[in-house]
Amino acid sequence: MTPSRPRYARIEQLTDGLLRDAGVTAPAVPIDDITRSRGITIRQMDLKEISGLVVRDADVTVIGVNKAHHLTRRRFTTAHELAHALLHEGKEVRYDKDFRVDFRSGMSSLGVDVEEMEANFFAACILMPRRFLEADPLMSDMDAEDAAKTVKALADRYKVSPHAMSIRLGNLAARSTSRAGVRG
Ligand SMILES: [Zn+2]
Repeated sequence: MTPSRPRYARIEQLTDGLLRDAGVTAPAVPIDDITRSRGITIRQMDLKEISGLVVRDADVTVIGVNKAHHLTRRRFTTAHELAHALLHEGKEVRYDKDFRVDFRSGMSSLGVDVEEMEANFFAACILMPRRFLEADPLMSDMDAEDAAKTVKALADRYKVSPHAMSIRLGNLAARSTSRAGVRG
């Protein structure tokens, strides 16, 4: 069953649990180990324009990752496909072409596929955990002039692309602003 809107709270709980179970307390998150710990096989494949895929039957789940892609992109793909494997039952084979790394909330009204939003949010949460970022010393060094440099340093540390990191930081900042009770 496809949910009608992304299950953000559930996904944060799920990714926190996966990180705890794996004993991960600092970046970079070993996404391949976490995926394999769920009994899932990862294959680096020649996939042309496909970024990643999930194939499953009763006994086995395989995630295929485009081996031509850069490490940070392959890590994001693995996390994205792991989300489909854990959250989205029903399809035996699922391909992802060029999914957008944009995992901002509030896009469901624009007709963006809810499962894709969930998979991207899951990938962001597990690769760039909120509690890691909030405690990261680099975050306190962030200033407007050097923001791009700090984002790059964080991206290197978490082994994600600077683009993915900047979106994640923007989302977290937006959320903490709304949590602080800012009213229009
Ligand atoms: Zn997908």
